[in-house]
Amino acid sequence: MTQTDVFLRTKAADRMTDPLHIIEVAIPLYLEKTFHYLVPETLLEQALTGRRALVPFGNRKLTGYILGSVTESSIANIKEIITVLDNEPLWTAKELEFFRWTATYYQHPLGEVIRTALPSGINVQILKVVDSEQGRLTGGKKALREKFYLPGSTTPPLRQPSPKALEILAVIRDSGDISAADLRKRFGACAPQLKRLTELGLSRVEEREVYRDPFKDHPAARDEPRILQTHQKAALDAISDCLDGKIFTPFLLYGVTGSGKTEVYLQSISHALELGRNALVLVPEIALTPQLTGRFQARFGGGIAILHSGLSDGERYDEWRRIRRGLARIVIGARSAIFAPMEKIGIIIVDEEHEASFKQSDGLRYNARDLALVRGRMEQAAVVLGSATPLVTTVHAAQEGRLTLLSLPERVAGRPMPLVELVAMKGSKETISTSLSAKLTETFEQRRQAIVFLNRRGFATFLVCTDCGKPLTCPNCSVTLTYHRQRGESLCHYCDYAVPAPGTCPACSGTTLSELGAGTEKLEHDLKELLPTARILRMDSDTTSGKGSHERLLFRMNDGSADVLVGTQMIAKGHDFPEVTLVGVVNAEASLGMPDFRAAERTFQLLSQVIGRAGRGENPGRVVVQAFDTEHYAIRSAAEHDAAGFYQQELEFRSEAGYPPFAFLAAFAISGLSEQAVTEQADMAASLLMRLKAELRVRVEILGPAPSPLYRLRNRFRRQILLKGSSRSDLHRLLSFWRQRATVVSAVRISVDIDPVDMM
Ligand code: ADP
Ligand code: ZN
Repeated sequence: MTQTDVFLRTKAADRMTDPLHIIEVAIPLYLEKTFHYLVPETLLEQALTGRRALVPFGNRKLTGYILGSVTESSIANIKEIITVLDNEPLWTAKELEFFRWTATYYQHPLGEVIRTALPSGINVQILKVVDSEQGRLTGGKKALREKFYLPGSTTPPLRQPSPKALEILAVIRDSGDISAADLRKRFGACAPQLKRLTELGLSRVEEREVYRDPFKDHPAARDEPRILQTHQKAALDAISDCLDGKIFTPFLLYGVTGSGKTEVYLQSISHALELGRNALVLVPEIALTPQLTGRFQARFGGGIAILHSGLSDGERYDEWRRIRRGLARIVIGARSAIFAPMEKIGIIIVDEEHEASFKQSDGLRYNARDLALVRGRMEQAAVVLGSATPLVTTVHAAQEGRLTLLSLPERVAGRPMPLVELVAMKGSKETISTSLSAKLTETFEQRRQAIVFLNRRGFATFLVCTDCGKPLTCPNCSVTLTYHRQRGESLCHYCDYAVPAPGTCPACSGTTLSELGAGTEKLEHDLKELLPTARILRMDSDTTSGKGSHERLLFRMNDGSADVLVGTQMIAKGHDFPEVTLVGVVNAEASLGMPDFRAAERTFQLLSQVIGRAGRGENPGRVVVQAFDTEHYAIRSAAEHDAAGFYQQELEFRSEAGYPPFAFLAAFAISGLSEQAVTEQADMAASLLMRLKAELRVRVEILGPAPSPLYRLRNRFRRQILLKGSSRSDLHRLLSFWRQRATVVSAVRISVDIDPVDMM
């Protein structure tokens, strides 16, 4: 990757008397290699590892990341850096090691990894020289100020800001951001200078709601640790031992819904803090609600940094600096928090570890759940993966002893798991069964709340046999075939297998194949007919697009101003509504129809989670699960609370079909505006892969190219190639050779996803 392996001294290098004059710099572009630059005498003291430097690159000036000094360089015409952008290092040596690991594993340029890891508010990306004057800049801030403008700004060659404006700018830079009131305290009236700086794109004004610490004015209802139940105690003891011994140990905290996992997290964190170590808590974005963060604040008071997607760039940068300076000892955040600049990490918690949202779906396609184990190992930390429905791969790792299993098999306070009735919908045209409608009416009359769940995503239409309840599947790939109405075909999106549709059912020869079903909107309509006076809320991506709308809906359920909540998978996750005593599931197999080998796993997880919403309070819960295929193991195991049965059967399927954990995957996504160009590139990529496979003699199966399930997205045509390898190193070897050899036309984008999660 680096160029330091060739040791030819060049003219440029010969001129150097001090090896520290040459540094290695990573640049945030899609380039494999890192670059060498000279450091001018004036910048020697600043150009240290962990800081950013402004560097000439082609005819641009870019922000680069200083990785370290090198003793020699083979590069001819080595250029000088222009200036250094930071006064303090942004990352530690240990963090760099983590970035490097990430770059290698995901086969992603190191500069891009570092850019992803740093908060976006930090990146002053200077794109282009305005002044036509060529030649080497003397470096230093003066030159910078005079010669550059910021992206998006149309400012003509700059007029020099006044000395007062420059002083103000220095203060803004030092503090990252600062309120206008604070600036006035220091400089008196400064509106004209701020206006000028903003016009020049050197500063930015934003209106912000001032965060008020809820515990400041009301020294809080502090929450005290609960007395743990037996299983919770055993889990805490195991984690504490690991913390005391400072030995990396990965745990699976496997606890049914409502079993008190969060309490175990809280007490484990307390223990880490007592030992002078810090805590990193990763949660799915959707869980970053005031409910969860409030629980942490009530227990620990201050010293918590919360990183969620609602933060502005400035706010995120504030939090980042607070962590970097050691002012926050607990970080709670969605996936990107895995890169939090925290030292002395004692414990990393990944709550709801099965959630697909830990995987980043573009750019650096990392999985924060997996990286938690990597970072935890580097930090000698305890890593706790918590879930009521862990990933199949996680369960397998625990069975093999690679994770230590901690289980919480019961709900706290002896509350029972809800009673589940499985209703066969075979041959029925109704959306709501007689049993579900009777229970809905009863629940409404008792003034209790109900949840009705239907997971229907519009694009994944598939055919299901109304006689046997089985969907059409691919004989090669064990995934559901996707029905393409216009082509009149059912198609496999992994291998391109196609059959004319509608045909007969290959399982039972039934002739009535029907398209699976009604969406949440229709369901809401039917519920209104059934319960005309009930207050019904619908939660799906259509009703939660506005800012805060998701929270508002949840709030109305919490304060009792709604009777029924209808929705997609959004309602299945993590919420604690004690008054919900009835849960209905319509079309339990909706998610089985996804053309994805994880369809059964996702279905089991979703159903178990949604079932777990019932009966969390004083009153026991009931659940009605409606399904065409009541015999499907994912549906049956969820309804019977038989997780062990599900995992066993799913692992057998994975083993037979050769999917994770018995194989490693990588997916190529090829997309572009021209259908023909995409097809050609996909074919070229696949044939190069085939040739390399033969040449390298690697054991990798190459499937496709096939159209992606979402064949057209934002006007782009999309195809995919799936690689399956029984050996991770074979797979990685093939991919890295492919990267070296492939030529891609600029109109087509090819991205490689290691351990893909979303196969759409
Ligand atoms: P989970 O995260 O497993 O779904 P929670 O941690 O939210 O479960 O716990 C469910 C409820 O039980 C919460 O209201 C929590 O405060 C309470 N709880 C947890 N542990 C105990 C305990 N040991 N004693 C009493 N209540 C507990
Ligand atoms: Zn197939």
